[in-house]
Amino acid sequence: MEDWILVALIVQKYGGSSVADTDSIKRVAKRIVETKKAGNSVAVVVSAMGDTTDDLIDQAMSIDSNPPAREMDMLMTAGERISMSLLAMAIHSAGSHAYSFTGSQAGFMTDAQFGAAHIKSVRPERVRRALGKGSVAIVAGFQGMNDSGDYTTLGRGGSDTSAVALAVALHADVCEIYTDVDGIFTADPRIVPTAKRIPAISYDAILEMASCGSKVLALRCVEYAQRFSMPLHVRSSFSHRPGTLVLPDGVDPRTLPNLS
Ligand code: ASP
Ligand code: MG
Repeated sequence: MEDWILVALIVQKYGGSSVADTDSIKRVAKRIVETKKAGNSVAVVVSAMGDTTDDLIDQAMSIDSNPPAREMDMLMTAGERISMSLLAMAIHSAGSHAYSFTGSQAGFMTDAQFGAAHIKSVRPERVRRALGKGSVAIVAGFQGMNDSGDYTTLGRGGSDTSAVALAVALHADVCEIYTDVDGIFTADPRIVPTAKRIPAISYDAILEMASCGSKVLALRCVEYAQRFSMPLHVRSSFSHRPGTLVLPDGVDPRTLPNLS
């Protein structure tokens, strides 16, 4: 009798607070390698390190308070290039193999609205090839390319949307969104110590929370996940505790990969 090995495909998104410095990048690399060694295929979407994006904006503003939108996007996409390449190096040094890709290399095409572009299509051929070779694929979040070949960005916090769009294009089993708290809470746990983690929540309920100003996930990312029934797992990159699951109706949480 043959053994069946079911390889799950997991898209993991690491936000700026999870890759704030090189030690954090090494910690995240270790976690990615562990997920891979557990028998999963892993594609990663990464944000810029810590406050990099804010710092780039400050630098631009100190030169011109109304910089050309195209140049602003060119500048902003630089943040994710730094984190993606450093993370690929950290994965190599942790004994695995990774390729990093810009948004355009990963096939993210957008409209031409600089600073608030919408994703029109994702054709992640190079990501698929990297995964097929058994490598980790790392994709710069928050960026794409318009039809004229110019770099665009998706709006602040856009890496969440990049991650869900990549997960949908790759038919991933789950999109894990890593942050610095253990999931979605009834209030901000960094401010309200009695706040409770919500183990599972519907897409609609998160959209409602977001429209009331609570910023757990980018609104567009949740809409996208709901539209394509992509399961989300919002969790901390600083612990292995389960976070908050956002599942389409009828999906049994026990069937999701990487739950420990
Ligand atoms: N680095 C970008 C920002 O800070 C995108 C993201 O973090 O999702 O808005
Ligand atoms: Mg950021």
